[in-house]
Parts: sequence; C-alpha cells; structure tokens
Amino acid sequence: MASKLAEFAKQNGVQYFMVSFTDLFGGQRAKLVPASAIADMEEDGAGFAGFATYLDMTPAHPDMLAVPDPSSVIQLPWKKDVAWVAGNCVMEDEDVAQAPRNVLRKLIAEAADEGMHVKTGIEAEFFLLTPDGSEISDPFDTAAKPCYDQQAVMRRYDVVREICDYMLELGWGPYQNDHEDANGQFEMNWEFDDALKTADKHSFFKFMTKSVAEKHGFRATFMPKPVEGLTGNGCHAHISVWDAPGSASKTNVFATDKGEGQTGELGLSEKGKHFLGGIMKHASALAAITNPTVNSYKRINAPRTMSGATWAPNTVTWTGNNRTHMVRVPGPGRFELRLPDGAVNPYLLQSVIIAAGLDGVRSKADPGKRHDIDMYAEGHKIKGAPRLPLNMLDALREFDKDKGLKAAMGEEFSAAYLKLKHQEWNDFTSHFSQWEKDNTLDI
Ligand SMILES: [Mg+2]
Repeated sequence: MASKLAEFAKQNGVQYFMVSFTDLFGGQRAKLVPASAIADMEEDGAGFAGFATYLDMTPAHPDMLAVPDPSSVIQLPWKKDVAWVAGNCVMEDEDVAQAPRNVLRKLIAEAADEGMHVKTGIEAEFFLLTPDGSEISDPFDTAAKPCYDQQAVMRRYDVVREICDYMLELGWGPYQNDHEDANGQFEMNWEFDDALKTADKHSFFKFMTKSVAEKHGFRATFMPKPVEGLTGNGCHAHISVWDAPGSASKTNVFATDKGEGQTGELGLSEKGKHFLGGIMKHASALAAITNPTVNSYKRINAPRTMSGATWAPNTVTWTGNNRTHMVRVPGPGRFELRLPDGAVNPYLLQSVIIAAGLDGVRSKADPGKRHDIDMYAEGHKIKGAPRLPLNMLDALREFDKDKGLKAAMGEEFSAAYLKLKHQEWNDFTSHFSQWEKDNTLDI
C-alpha cells in the first residue's frame, strides 16, 4: 500500500509529522515522527504508554498505538516542515473504546446508519494573557463593555490576523473575528463542517492559537472562567443534520421534511425538533462532558459579570433568536447549543451532541415549551425548568444516573471518564483554600 503521508511529505516538503491523539481530559499528545519513518507508522501506528495519559490505563497495559488518519493531515502554516495528523488509538488490533476520537467515529457511523449526518460549527472563545497567565495581555483593555471594541481588537491585530491568515490558507473559510465580551477575550469564526472534521479543526485551532500567541509573547487560554467577574470562554456549537456527508450533502434534514418544505416552530423539522428534544432531555447529564472542569461551573450559574451579562445559561430552556437560553434557534434548519465551554474535549463535544440527539430522534423526544423571554431578567417566572448542575460533582452524578446517555457514549468510555473525573474532583476537594480559612477561622 502506498503511503499517503509519505506522498504528502514529498509533495509539501514536510520533514516531521506530529502523530497526535486527544485523551479523556482533552489533552493533546503527540509523537514527532520523521517523514522517512511515516510510511511504517501509517500502517502500524506510533506507540504510546497509555498509563502516562488520561485514558484510564495501567502501567501493565500493552503499548497503545495511534494510527494516523491521513484524511486529517494539516501542514503547520507557521512551521511548514511539520505536519499534524490525528491518530486513532488502537491496542492489540482493537480500537481503544474510550479514546475520544474513536467514541466520535462510532457515533458518526451509527447516525449514518439512520441516514443522519451531523454538521457543526463551533465558536471557541479564548483570552490572550501575559505569559505567566496572571494578567490580561493588554493593559489598556479595561472597558466595562469591551465587546466588539475596535481599538482593542486592533491592538492584537498581529495575533488575530496571523491566525486568520492561516485558516484562509488551510481553506477553513474563516469569515469574521472580534473582541468578545470580556477584557482580553477574542472569537474567530470559520465555516461549519462534518462533525469529525470540526472536531479535528477544533483541536488544531487550539494548538494553533496557543502556538501563535506564544510566538507573540502572550498566552492563549480557553479556560472556562480565567478571570473572576468577567465573561467566560464559551464554545457554542451550531448544529444541523444533513442527508449525506461532506460535499455530497444536499438537504438539511433539520430544515425540511422530505421535500415538504420547512415545518415546525422556527423552521425546525420534526426530526430537528426531536434531535433538540434529545439534547434537552439529557442536558443535565451531558454537562459533565460539555462543562468538564471544576472551573466550568464558575461560568454557568455565574453572578452577573462586569459587562452586565454572563452569556452563559443556568437552566435547561430553549427559544428563538435570543442568547439568554441554553438553546437558541437563530433561524431555519439549525440550532445553537450555548452550554459548552472552552475546556470541552473537541471529540467528546461532537460525540455527546450526536449521542443525545440520536436518542431524541429515536424516542421522538419533545423539547418542551419554547420560552421567548429574557432569561437573565425573567428566568424566575419559568416554573419547573431544570437547573443545570451547580458543580462538577453534581454533573458527574447526573451523567452516572443517565443510563441511556452512558450507553450511547459507550460503556467503556463512560466508566473510564467517570472514574478519572471523580479522581479529579477528589483531588480538588482535598485542596485547602483561603476561602475556608477566611470563613471558618473564627467559628
Ligand atoms: Mg461569542
């Protein structure tokens, strides 16, 4: 078999490949492989000791192999002699069931069996900080309402433009960049794509943004709430389902019902509505995936920020074109899930959307009543809307209780994820904080 990656190296002058995989905590791990060795790696995979990463393995496990997927290869625009390629984790000739990219590939195949091809676009917000992460990198970026601040975005033009140029070069179709709602915060948007492609791009975007920021003497962070009192980093997902993958897709299944034109509230087809119903039904449990860190719960359920709004949901509600709910249906044929944050694992984000949505379609789930109110001002008027988990432990417990979602994500994955995340929670609770001292010393 001719090696696609060796050919890619020859044609593009690539000398090294980063064979990369993403672990359960969203960490990206890679081996740097010289182009002369890539043909063998493409067949057999690059070896890793799984225990050294967050995949719930022991030191006794055999070698885990990351087999590069040539369709994901990206030449680093800022370092042309290197190319990044996503690997699929394999152990003793079997896919590692809990590895996030495998979880997603399996769910994509299941959805395809039912004629559903999920496409998503994501909005991965980030902050530019000083290299030690202690301050916003721009000392003049202090406005109370800094969203779309043209002076502030231009002070970081060199970073933003460099990243956008690279996305143009890679053919991602970037179309806008802005200063976001928090001081030091930015958002860059590119075209939506098939779920696996979006997950690979999301991973690469994080790697690229951090790399370019470092080059300019800054530190980029996707941390959900890096600065107390300011709006946090969301990672909103825009979701639609199509009749075929890639460029073969012709019909948006969420927009039409078998050629009968748009149906349903706000242009969501019956299938779209049930898919949304699945997201609503599993929302409290899927927060364990979309909001995966201790810090995530400082973004949702947060008190009002300096700009006047958190832009993050507190309750499981949906609406039309209104950003104060967990789900917004901005127009025909798609909806926006505003729950995920910057810490979300790119592969698990897509996986949990498909898992919950598929269950919704299969069970004809009802998303419930649409609420067209300002949730920040009038949320108290809605009786009985479930609250999102208040912390990571509550979210893990909700996930553990949701047998349907756990099964859809895969039992091995769910067990491994819950085990490692509970360990992380225990580690957090054993941490001694100043707050305890301040509030308990004189008791
Ligand atoms: Mg935004």
